[in-house]
Amino acid sequence: MEDSNRKTFSRRAVLKRGGLVALATFSAPALLAGCGSKKKTLVCNDTSGLSDGEKQGREALKYVDKSTMPNKNCLNCGLYKAPAKAGECGGCTILKGPIHPEGYCTGWSPKAG
Ligand code: SF4
Repeated sequence: MEDSNRKTFSRRAVLKRGGLVALATFSAPALLAGCGSKKKTLVCNDTSGLSDGEKQGREALKYVDKSTMPNKNCLNCGLYKAPAKAGECGGCTILKGPIHPEGYCTGWSPKAG
C-alpha cells in the first residue's frame, strides 16, 4: 500500500516537473520579448481613420513606409513633421495619416538649409 502511494506521488511529481519545464520553455521567448530584447518594427500605414480623399492623396503621391530612393526619405524631407515621442510615426504637411521617418512619396522636397 505504502509502495503504491509512493509511485503515485512519484508520477505526479514527474508530471508536475514536466509541466513546469514545458511552461518555462514556452514562456521564455514571450518573457524576453516583453523585456524589450527584440525591437518592435514601426508600421505607419494605418489609414483607417482617414477619409477616402485623404487615402487617395497618399496613393496619388505613392507613399510607402520604406523609401527605395537613395538619400531621400521622410526624415530628410522638408515636409516631414516629427512625432511627439521618439519611435512613433510622424506626420506630413501635405499627406494625412501616420508617416514613417524612413518612408517616401513623390512629393519629397529637400529640407531647407
Ligand atoms: S512629402 Fe512625402 S516624403 Fe515628404 S514627409 Fe511627406 S510623405 Fe514623406
